[in-house]
Formats: sequence, C-alpha cells, structure tokens
Amino acid sequence: MKVMKKHILYPDQYVENAWAVDYTALFNQGIRGIILDIDNTLVPYYVPDPDMRTVAGIRRLKESGFSLYIVSNGREERVRRFNQGLGLPYVCRAGKPGAHGFLKAQHHFRLPTEQIAVIGDQIFTDVWGGNKQGMYTILVKQVSKRDEWITAVKRPLEKVVMLFYRRFLKKQEPAE
Ligand SMILES: [Mg+2]
Repeated sequence: MKVMKKHILYPDQYVENAWAVDYTALFNQGIRGIILDIDNTLVPYYVPDPDMRTVAGIRRLKESGFSLYIVSNGREERVRRFNQGLGLPYVCRAGKPGAHGFLKAQHHFRLPTEQIAVIGDQIFTDVWGGNKQGMYTILVKQVSKRDEWITAVKRPLEKVVMLFYRRFLKKQEPAE
C-alpha cells in the first residue's frame, strides 16, 4: 500500500457522528484526551442543551478513561448552558483554528499531542486547527443541515476539500 502524506486539511477519520467513533480502537492507539466541539458536532447550534445520547456518550467516555475538554468557538452563555449538567472543562470563543483553545485543553490534559483527539464537524476550524497542533482529528457529519452564517459560508469550500479527500482515501486503498 502506498502511503501518502496526509494534507493539513484532511481528517484522520471521517465518521457519521461522534458516537460512531470506535473509541476502543482510539484508546488502544494511545489516545487519552478528547477535545469536543459542540455546535453541529454534538447537537445543532440552536439546541441549548445536550440530548440523552450526548449525556450517555460523554459519561461512557469518562468511564472508559478518557479526559474530555470542550473547545468551542461559541459564546460563553451558550457553552456554559450546554455544559451545565456535563461539568466538563471548557474554553469558549476559542478562535479555532487558532491554537489557543487546543493548547488550553492540552495543558489541562498534560498529554503529548499524539495522545489527543479532536472531534468536530468543520474542516476549517476543528480539523485544520487540530492538525496544526499535531493532534488526531476526527471529522463528523454535521448533525443538522442548518448552520450559522459564519459556518455556512465555509461549507462550499469544505465540499471541495472533501472531494479531494475522498480521492485521497481511494488511492490509499490497496490495489486488488
Ligand atoms: Mg461545529
């Protein structure tokens, strides 16, 4: 199999949603810290509270020995309200893909970058930002088709990147 260098905008994994990730495999690979995005990753951006699936999933991740940290570009009120019952450490207005939020999370984890995974729905914030730090990036399909305008303007560009990403994945497949 020919292994090509991964582009800085490509995720290490592309999955249906945050609960379709094989967390056992992640753990076995050495990942111990997980950075979570909220908007359109865990819930639609207009849903203020975590749903049952999110609450249960986060509890399971903690029990499995992962440290969790929310890194959101969202406003303080949004993140605080969402996190009320979860009680996770977080940074809001993180300015992803900038380093600030990722570094805060890493400092909290006290883990090397290769033991940290980033889960998010956006290429130009979550994936790019995580990749720049050398973290393991997991792109999920957006849970709602509705985006905030700032996100919506970036989606057509994401589609272009995903086109090349799919081509890249095809070339990674072993030849028959
Ligand atoms: Mg998001």
